[in-house]
Amino acid sequence: MKRPWWHWLAWIVAFTVGAFACRLAIEHALSAQDPLSQDVEAVIERHQISYVGDMTSQAFHRKSCPLASQIPRRFRVMFFSRRAALEMKFNPCPHCQP
Ligand SMILES: [Zn+2]
Repeated sequence: MKRPWWHWLAWIVAFTVGAFACRLAIEHALSAQDPLSQDVEAVIERHQISYVGDMTSQAFHRKSCPLASQIPRRFRVMFFSRRAALEMKFNPCPHCQP
């Protein structure tokens, strides 16, 4: 017995809807993972932050400094300018000399 033409159409529609739902679920899972994973890097880019401070050592770095990326996320402070960092009593890092 030959299947009616709409049989295949129903399959295609079901598949498309299923794939779309899967994509939404995956996207949701990825974005819900960790609010902080909208990474520090992205924040730096968006706000054109050039200096990163470490609250524990009271030192600040150029954002390109390798030591800056080692600062634990919760101790990071972002500065728009060198002056702002100095006003917060942060000291320039001797390695990158901001
Ligand atoms: Zn540094």
